[in-house]
Amino acid sequence: MKLICIGRNYTEHIKELDNERPSEPVVFIKPDSAVLPKEQDFYIPSFSNDVHYEVELLVKITKVGKHISEKFAHRYYDEIGLGIDFTARDLQAQLKSKGLPWEKAKGFDGAAVIGNWLPKEKFKNLNELGFSLLKNGEIVQNGHTSLMLWKIDELIAYVSTYFMLKKGDIIFTGTPSGVGKVAPNDYLVGKIEGEQLFAVKVR
Ligand code: ZN
Repeated sequence: MKLICIGRNYTEHIKELDNERPSEPVVFIKPDSAVLPKEQDFYIPSFSNDVHYEVELLVKITKVGKHISEKFAHRYYDEIGLGIDFTARDLQAQLKSKGLPWEKAKGFDGAAVIGNWLPKEKFKNLNELGFSLLKNGEIVQNGHTSLMLWKIDELIAYVSTYFMLKKGDIIFTGTPSGVGKVAPNDYLVGKIEGEQLFAVKVR
């Protein structure tokens, strides 16, 4: 199973990190060992002093496919979810400045929170969904799928040009603005349309 992550998919987040607006999606992969086991606390790794949360809408792939066209992309997923793409921002900045891959900053153990899944039929329009991240009870990120530069079906078409999608693969569709640092004892809760899908304690 692989986690395919999209970077820079929301204009406001591109601005807050001072990044260039991409002409095509930014893609990176986290290994399956990055998945934080359910009900486990997230431990800030020793190699970073600036780990950020990034709440993201997730899509779970249900069957094998490559070169999937946007028109047929909806046949490749039944469920959506919510998760966190934890990022060692200090390490990522170092790697970026040298033009090196981000994996160490994004793919470390526990760096991928995956919440509960919801059937996509539950929603009328997946491109009109609100989601949020609360830190210690306060909303720190508010996202809306209508603001994604590339929508779910476009992302599936795009990534499947490069990577064969397999059953169980998960796409992280990028974070909206509001990313920030976590500290020990923070409590992070993620919601789609008000429904809680995960809760994580930071250590
Ligand atoms: Zn991200």
